[in-house]
Order: sequence, then C-alpha cells, then structure tokens
Amino acid sequence: MTERVITRESVRTLDQEDSLSEFRSQFYLQEHTYYMDGNSLGLLSKKAEKALLTSLNDWKKHGIEGWTEGQQPWYYMSEKLGELTAPLIGAAPEEVINTGSITTNLHQLLATFYKPEGKRTKIIADALNFPSDIYALKSQIELHGLDPNEHLIQVESSNGHTLTEEDIIAAMDDTAALLLLPSVLYRSGQLLDIEQLTAAAHKHGIIAGFDLAHSIGALPHKLDQWDVDFAVWCTYKYLNSGPGGVGGLFVNQKHLGRKPGLAGWFSSKKEKQFDMDHELTPSDSAGAFQIGTPHILSSAPLLGSLEIFHEAGIEAVRQKSLKQTRLMMDMLHQELNEAGFQIATPLEDSQRGGHISLLHPEAASICKALKQEGVIPDYRSPNVIRLAPIALYTSFEEVYDVMMILKEIMNKGKHKQYKNERGIIA
Ligand SMILES: *Cc1c(COP(=O)(O)O)cnc(C)c1O
Repeated sequence: MTERVITRESVRTLDQEDSLSEFRSQFYLQEHTYYMDGNSLGLLSKKAEKALLTSLNDWKKHGIEGWTEGQQPWYYMSEKLGELTAPLIGAAPEEVINTGSITTNLHQLLATFYKPEGKRTKIIADALNFPSDIYALKSQIELHGLDPNEHLIQVESSNGHTLTEEDIIAAMDDTAALLLLPSVLYRSGQLLDIEQLTAAAHKHGIIAGFDLAHSIGALPHKLDQWDVDFAVWCTYKYLNSGPGGVGGLFVNQKHLGRKPGLAGWFSSKKEKQFDMDHELTPSDSAGAFQIGTPHILSSAPLLGSLEIFHEAGIEAVRQKSLKQTRLMMDMLHQELNEAGFQIATPLEDSQRGGHISLLHPEAASICKALKQEGVIPDYRSPNVIRLAPIALYTSFEEVYDVMMILKEIMNKGKHKQYKNERGIIA
C-alpha cells in the first residue's frame, strides 16, 4: 500500500503525467458515466467505427469485387488482422488468425490437438474457468467416446478465487494429453504464470493451450518465447472490436502444417481455395484453422482498434493498467476499509490482470446502486463486483470518482433500496 494519502489533486497529477491520456478522445464516452466494464465489452473508438464504415462502403461500391478490390480487401482481412494482433501476444504473423469465437476456436483446436491415445487421455483444466470453455472440453471428450467425469481433471481452488501453479503442476502426469487454462481468471482477475505452466506441461508431454480472453489487449504476452502450443481469445473485451466481434487463435509455428480437426474451404491455402478441389490443401499458416467465410462486418472494426494499440504500445497500456488497479485497491484501503469488501484479486502486479474483483455479500444491490450513480460495473453471481479501468480511455480521476461514489453508497446504505438479486445479463 502507498504511504501517501490519495487526494483528487494527487490523482490529477497522475493524469497530467499520463502518456496515454490523449487516446481517451478517440473513444465514444458518455457524459456522466463511468464505464468500468471494458473487460466485458470494450467501448467504440472512432478508428473502429471508421474501419467498419470503410467495409460497408467497399460493399456499396464494389459488390462481390470487395473481396479483392475493396480498400480493406475482405479475402485477406483475417490474415491482416492476425498480422496486426501478433505483436500483442509475442507471435509471428503466420501463427495468428482472426476467426470464430473463443468457444468455436477452442472446439477447432481441441479437434486438432486433443488426440487421446493409450493411457494418455485426460485434459487438465481448472475449477474456476468460464463455463463455455468447460462445456467445449466436455463435449470434445465425449466425441472421443470418453467420460468427462473421468477424463476432465479440474484443478480446484483452495479459496474459491485463485489457483496456484503448484496445484496445477501437481495434476500433470503422463495420463494427460492436453492442458487448457485461462491466462487471467475471469472472476478474480488472477494472472497465471503461463511460461512456468507451459514448461511443466511439456516436461510431461502435455500440449499446453491458453484462453487469453482477459489478458489480450490488457497486457503483453510472449507466446513464442514461452513455447505455448495454442491460444484462443475474443476481441470484444479489451480489444474493443464491438459486440460479437470476431475472435482469434494462435497456433505455434512447430504445429503449422497440421491438418485442421474441423476443416472447411477457408482452411485452404489461399491460392488453392477457388480451385474447388474436393481434396483440401490446408494453408501453411494459422489460417488453416479457419472454417467458413469470415464475418467481415464483425471483423472490420478490429482493424481500426488495433491501430490504436500499435500507437499506444501494449507495454504502456499494461503499466497504466497496473497503476490504475493499484490505485483502486489503495483507495479501497484508504476510504472503504470499514465497508466489508474483500479483494479477490492477487495484490502482486505479476499475478494481476486488468480488473479488480471485489467480494461483498450485497454485491448485486451495490451494483444496482452504482449504476444509479452513473458507474457501469460488472456483477458476477453471487458476490463479485468486477471493476476494470481501461488504460486507453479511463482517467485516474475517474478511478478516484468511482471509489468515492462507492464510498458514499456504502456510507449512506444507498444500495439497501435494491433487491440483492442479479438481472438477466450479469
Ligand atoms: C468471454 C469469455 C468467453 C466467451 O466465449 P465466446 O465464444 O467468445 O462467446 C469464453 N471464455 C472465457 C474465459 C471468457 O472470458
């Protein structure tokens, strides 16, 4: 905890010294609203909007020719986006493709890499991951005629919020074929040690895959250096591609050339695709793991959004993000010590993603009171409030305001007027 007292003046100084402050004006922020949910759906930027309009205009102007003749040719857009995403994750351009969603990409890569054989049949995951990932793992196990109860190992958490690398590594042996973990846990915001876990998995001959949903766009990765086998992510969270924005996947160079488990004509080598041959010639790149026609209008905004990341630099984004989540925790300590909150997020910078997770028995009604005051939080049943300051568009002063609003709610019991129940989307 910082020793100095945090004041509005002291956080204003942080804003004045912030090298990323200029990016805020590139986003559509609503007046009198504190948007703390950019880890669920990032806000629209002017660049993303422009890129989408360019694709619409390409359609308007070129019709079918837009595939190759447009200003943003549709036929190469997924590859182009892969190339622009690669620096965010420490990958080579050919290892990355923009396609599908987390869940469909996971199905694709499990169909490709999960090959239960002999006694090596199990998948190691964790008990805290997002349900969709677990559903995908279970259905892939069942597709092999195996029983998930026996073949899916979910490493437990001792406190219900975080995992330890030691526990995960202890679950590894030569009955495991594949490991799938989140980089950052969606509830607590814990960042796992991807490098250590991958090295341990490889020592046991286990394929290591990661879901980067809550880390891509929030912090840098070195997937090649860490020798990760595959990764999946969405782009509508920290990457600000818009609702339903097309996701992405990474396949390590050493696995490129492998036949996709789920093939389609977009798995083809680009110059062969229109030969219309019934024998697939898969792409040599991660493009081989595409299936059908790319969703252009849900991909285009990411072209603009990634431009912003390139201008800002992911290292700078991470440094500001850490400062902001640290400020939140320090303010909780300074202003809300008596309010009954517990921080589920690890306090160490090296173990923290981009959001803070607060636990409170009245979390649902507190979130309703926050919304009434113009703060958009993110509630996860039954007792989690997630708050995500976004380095590209949240100011330090906003973080200060949000915590003071929360203090006022708790001091006055403003949340008591609401039912402590969740709404339909939370
Ligand atoms: C957001 C999120 C998802 C959502 O999957 P989609 O297929 O994109 O709907 C899946 N897993 C994790 C860990 C997530 O955070």
